[in-house]
Amino acid sequence: MRVAVAGFAHESNTFSSQPTTLDDFEIEVGQQLLDDNADTYHEIAGYIVAAQEEGMQLLPLLSATATPAGPVTTADYETLVGRILTGLADLGPVDGVLLALHGAMVVEGIGHGDAETVRRVREQVGDQIPIVVTHDYHANVPPELIAYADVLVIYKTNPHIDQRERGIQAAKILARTIRGEICPKMHMVNPEVVFNIYFHNTSVAPMQPLMQQAIELEQRPGILAASIAAGYQYADVEWMGPAIVLVTDGDADLATREAEKIGDAMWSIREQLVLDVPDPAAAVRQAIASDDNPTTLLDFGDNIGGGSAGDSTFVLEQLLAQQADGWVVTIWDPDAAKQCQQAGIGGAVDLQVGAKTDTEHGTTQSVQGTVRTLSDGNYEEFERRHGGGRRHHQGLTVVVRVPCGEGSGSLVINSERQSPNSIHQITSVGIVPAQQKILAAKGAIAPRAAYEPVSPHLIEVDSGGACWIGRGPSSYEHARTQLYEWTLTPNAGDSK
Ligand SMILES: [Zn+2]
Repeated sequence: MRVAVAGFAHESNTFSSQPTTLDDFEIEVGQQLLDDNADTYHEIAGYIVAAQEEGMQLLPLLSATATPAGPVTTADYETLVGRILTGLADLGPVDGVLLALHGAMVVEGIGHGDAETVRRVREQVGDQIPIVVTHDYHANVPPELIAYADVLVIYKTNPHIDQRERGIQAAKILARTIRGEICPKMHMVNPEVVFNIYFHNTSVAPMQPLMQQAIELEQRPGILAASIAAGYQYADVEWMGPAIVLVTDGDADLATREAEKIGDAMWSIREQLVLDVPDPAAAVRQAIASDDNPTTLLDFGDNIGGGSAGDSTFVLEQLLAQQADGWVVTIWDPDAAKQCQQAGIGGAVDLQVGAKTDTEHGTTQSVQGTVRTLSDGNYEEFERRHGGGRRHHQGLTVVVRVPCGEGSGSLVINSERQSPNSIHQITSVGIVPAQQKILAAKGAIAPRAAYEPVSPHLIEVDSGGACWIGRGPSSYEHARTQLYEWTLTPNAGDSK
């Protein structure tokens, strides 16, 4: 069995001021694609495991992945999808195709990028070759994607720690399809509700019981995959919102019936979607008062994994203003990092830090301190963490000790935007979480896998930024307007 493999993953925030271009993508080609993923928890690692067990020969084309930011430019999308299609043509006949696509890529001038990618692959391989797709849980899935793919399998966890298993599941379905043992039938339901990112944690209600239904369904005979995408609210595209995707063996009615059941269950709990999240000032007050050290502040608004800038200062500003002690804030500011490098370890620095991307991420803070650490920003994560990655690079990274009130805080300044998916982002530069009082992580649910093991108390923060929690479709141009949003408590949203 000859199976082509490609990955093309981006979560595109249409409210980001930073378009995503070719330079932003980390690209792996040929055998390197397989070698770099084999020892990770990514779904391509799962493809490799299943291929060995099922006797499939994987033919790697290209994998392109970029940190979430604004939509992908049309020309650069064409370049990357063109390389996938050319590589596919060069392979000659294949028996199947595996595509690791995020599901929330937006391409300027095109819209839903992943559906377009699958459409083009389908056009090239014809109707007889099975195409199996894996998606991130934050996918916005349009009906076109379901029409062009044979099978879609979506992560079941957030933080995403089951990517490898979903890759195995998807690739095994492909192997059985190629052998003619099964005949996948797929149906999707798009409930008319926005599942705010605040409710995306798969370990707690309201999502946990819904996901449990999907997990139990997969134990039933005839059901090959039962998936729920929570959707990605920061993309103003027509099919923004959650999706239920059922894949059965030859039984289209069963797929429809079970997808509708979960869709109905999701709709029926919409009144539980009530947001009650403290603003940065209140969250910092709570963290200072807490004895459960360290407390982690989850900076929702500047969620880097959701495409925000990574240099917002709303939380930092409050830590400084309230003279908090023992805090650690990681912020993206390549110029400030360079300035610290020039000062050297032990050097005194007077920095203007953060809020340089645009006007939506707070005000630049004036910070004086001493450089403690200089690092190349490379580290490895061996545990199962959101994103499944192992080798991480955050560029030149410095730690500055900042006097604050009676005590001090630590500013970790890096040079490449990076979601805080691994605690080693800060331990690799000498921060010991157990010695801190307050950690700040620029993310929503994703950092939990890294921070819950070291932090007994996490506080969600309704902060500003490109991932502001209150951003919803009532102000969008392209999203379906009839979607039920959520209820805001009187206090939520103050910070914006
Ligand atoms: Zn995701």
